[in-house]
Amino acid sequence: MATLLAENVSPPSAFKLCTENSLISNKPSIIWRAITFVVIVCLSLVVLDGWRSWTARAVELGEMDVATSNLSRAMAQQADDTFKEADTALLGLVERVQHDGTGPAALKRLHDVLVMRQQELPQLAGLFVYDENGIWIVNSTSTPLDRFNNSDREYFIFHQHNANPGPHIGVPVISRSGGKWVIPVSRRINKPDGSFGGVVLATVDIDFFKAFYSTLQIGNAGAVALVLNSGVMLIRRPFDVKVIGKNMRGTELYRYYTTQGPAGTAFIKSAQDGVTRLNSYRSLPHYPVFVAAALSKDEILHEWWRDTIWHSAGVLCLVMVVGLFGWHLIRQIGLRTTAEAELTKTHASLEKLNRTLERLAMQDGLTGLANRRQFDVTLHSEFSRATRHASALALIMLDVDCFKQYNDIYGHAAGDDCLRTISHLIRELTARRPGDLAARYGGEEIAVLLPNTDVTHAVAIADDIRSAIRGLEIEHSGNPTGFVTISAGVDARIPIRGAAKPAELILAADRALYEAKRNGRNRVLAARNGLQSSATG
Ligand code: GH3
Ligand code: MG
Ligand code: MG
Repeated sequence: MATLLAENVSPPSAFKLCTENSLISNKPSIIWRAITFVVIVCLSLVVLDGWRSWTARAVELGEMDVATSNLSRAMAQQADDTFKEADTALLGLVERVQHDGTGPAALKRLHDVLVMRQQELPQLAGLFVYDENGIWIVNSTSTPLDRFNNSDREYFIFHQHNANPGPHIGVPVISRSGGKWVIPVSRRINKPDGSFGGVVLATVDIDFFKAFYSTLQIGNAGAVALVLNSGVMLIRRPFDVKVIGKNMRGTELYRYYTTQGPAGTAFIKSAQDGVTRLNSYRSLPHYPVFVAAALSKDEILHEWWRDTIWHSAGVLCLVMVVGLFGWHLIRQIGLRTTAEAELTKTHASLEKLNRTLERLAMQDGLTGLANRRQFDVTLHSEFSRATRHASALALIMLDVDCFKQYNDIYGHAAGDDCLRTISHLIRELTARRPGDLAARYGGEEIAVLLPNTDVTHAVAIADDIRSAIRGLEIEHSGNPTGFVTISAGVDARIPIRGAAKPAELILAADRALYEAKRNGRNRVLAARNGLQSSATG
């Protein structure tokens, strides 16, 4: 029994907790489903936050796009108004010079007009009239007229060679009268015959734009610029005197402006300071000039970055909590699943063990035949069945002849071997029909129960057994035949309900066995109840 327990019951170590790998391999479906669920939840959190962040970024950039666009529109309008006012003053002056001429009286009146106009327009550094040689005829300042000649200036040369009477905005210059950076706005004076008669000039103080641009809210890294369509920089914030008059034709901003139309927005890395900005550029409605308003990308996205970092940290914490919780849950599921599997395994082992024990409880240890207990149980059930069906039930009781002597001569162990051999043979001979049962009745006495068998057949079977055992020729010097033999008593009957008992069948077969012994052994004898029959060896 101890050996059997050791074989069939798993050791206690089988209950110990398994590693994660073995958990997963034990119940992949449940654990993988749980892992998938946790991963999906974590991924959803990350993806949703990523999507939210990306949307917030797009909204932020969209708002800044509108803001820079509005800023460039306001700047373009301001610059256009500034040049328009100066140009309107010039238009009046051209008309006056061409009509009144440049005689002393006319020049005197003209001087008064220039002074008056400059006082009206705060953006102007000065108003000037030059003759066809670039000599100062009249101006709005107190600078003596004979001191300078402006025939070398870009705007003068432009008008000299260009009959177009329209306004011209020239490259910035340092004023000869005031010593400050100014933007020249000029028109051509024609003589009565249409030939070049000189230039009227209004100089717009660059400080005027500087003051206006200083008031714009463009952050620390923002920039604004006023640029001629020819690519010459007029002014830029952050202010640097070195960029005034600088050629911008090679810059990305200028390329956008010349190729993408008069207004637009784009992320551009500045050629001046290397900062990437959201640029909005726009040309002035009436003059060949454009403005650009730019906000630093880093500054635009600064708040968004801060929000995103906080959100991401929060989501990361949440994912970690969910992941940790999920891991714990999966582990618990794994442990429970393993425990269930172990329990099922143990249950199956116990059931197997129970069946083995049941079988052993009904089996004889020495011979392997059914034991007395099983014989009694089967006899009663077969007897009842035979009673119900009114069928014959036969019983053979057989006993080894002179077995006491066999033990005495060959030893008890040899006696056991002999009994095992005989039992094995009987089991083979009676195993042909499923209902037949051979049992060790006691000592060296064996009972064979044969349902649905009449006495003649039972005697025949008993004699087959007898002759087969004799045929084994197991030496037995104490037996008159010289070999091991058996004697058998047989009884068969159809039990009558209420009138017959199983014990009667045993008794009758046992008496017949006794008779067989008395009659010389090594023979089969049927009980004397009207169905008598016999066989001898
Ligand atoms: P008989 O021909 O009249 O049957 O003579 P017998 O010597 O066989 O007499 P009996 O049946 O009374 O003797 C039974 C003997 O069988 C007694 C015992 O020594 C032996 N025996 C009973 N059970 C066992 C067993 O399990 N092993 C061994 N080796 N001998 C057994
Ligand atoms: Mg005997
Ligand atoms: Mg006996």
